[in-house]
Amino acid sequence: MSDEHGFSTRAIHAGQEADPLTGAVVTPIYQVSTYKQDGIGGFRNGYEYSRSANPTRTALEECIAALEGGSRGFAFASGLAGQDTVARALLVPGDHVVVPNDAYGGTYRYFNKVAGPQGIEHSIADMGDLESVRAAIRPGQTKMVWVETPTNPLLGIADIAAIAEIAHAAGAILVVDNTFATAYLQSPLALGADIVTHSTTKYSGGHSDVVGGAVVTAKSITVPGLEDAEERIAFHQNSIGGVAGPFDSWLTLRGLKTLGVRMDRHSDNAEKVVEFLEGHDGVSQVLYPGLPGHRNHDVAARQMKRFGGMVSFRMKRGEDAAVKTCAAVSLWTLGESLGGVESLIEHPGRMTHASVAGTELEVPGDLIRLSVGIEDVDDLIADLREALDIHG
Ligand SMILES: *Cc1c(COP(=O)(O)O)cnc(C)c1O
Repeated sequence: MSDEHGFSTRAIHAGQEADPLTGAVVTPIYQVSTYKQDGIGGFRNGYEYSRSANPTRTALEECIAALEGGSRGFAFASGLAGQDTVARALLVPGDHVVVPNDAYGGTYRYFNKVAGPQGIEHSIADMGDLESVRAAIRPGQTKMVWVETPTNPLLGIADIAAIAEIAHAAGAILVVDNTFATAYLQSPLALGADIVTHSTTKYSGGHSDVVGGAVVTAKSITVPGLEDAEERIAFHQNSIGGVAGPFDSWLTLRGLKTLGVRMDRHSDNAEKVVEFLEGHDGVSQVLYPGLPGHRNHDVAARQMKRFGGMVSFRMKRGEDAAVKTCAAVSLWTLGESLGGVESLIEHPGRMTHASVAGTELEVPGDLIRLSVGIEDVDDLIADLREALDIHG
């Protein structure tokens, strides 16, 4: 499958040749731990033990690498397992990382409470402001810049190409968490990023039925001392062992096949929900990169194909009204996570981002986050309207 093929062609076919044994058109679930060797060391197609490699996982890894236009993909048991592997593969005590000021709560917690005590230092930057990124870099010590765009839950946008230049000039590697946009809406490696990470739990899997993660490396990484990042990640994936299991890999692969059509529908529905929210009296602000008034709308328009399915908004009447609105909807499901076909609503301050309360990453109490699903949008809006007319 070449890079010349379109996105959905790659999603459906990359890494997924018909099964050589039976012709099965879908990659089988190789639910197996070990493989018969043809004589000692005579591995069939390189398969020896399923922590090191498993054919269903290989299919997923090849597919996601093809979708991101990268060199090699790695699939993990969760997004955070992948992020941990990247950090441990590439950083040593004394190194410094620049982390977004509105990073995914678990990412911030990882750098703050896991990597920190192991000697990896970090500073927080507003990734929507290039001066803030430059100021956070410690020349000689910063080895990694971590970017999420759009961010969770404030839908901030970072300029990937500009930050890649800043990071590279400082001798640091740029990692982009592409979970929200997905490979369909945004191609960080083509914009200069060195590594892409995903929580495939979200849009890539897309059906709220699997937890997983992925990492993809760029075709060429030229940051001095980190040129071998791909081999290091491969070594650490096997040495730490936080790999995706065969069934999880299969579910994620199945999800990826429809990623393009789903993201278009998520984006269509989100645009209509945004229009409704903008017109509602109870709403003080709508956060969506597709809005011309968004601080970095121009950057988003340049680097994203569309603006995706995540929408946040603030309630005029404050935290209490936000909490009550979340409880008053019936078609929207009150729940954490995002990116599934069904629409979710949540209160970040008390749910997904409760772990960052009291830190620099604390989010406003009047904020509601929506993961706009692919149901009929009129039904979604009617349900939201009912709740907002009472509590807004
Ligand atoms: C969910 C999420 C993660 C963590 O992924 P898990 O699969 O839950 O481990 C990382 N980054 C972002 C942006 C996320 O939404």
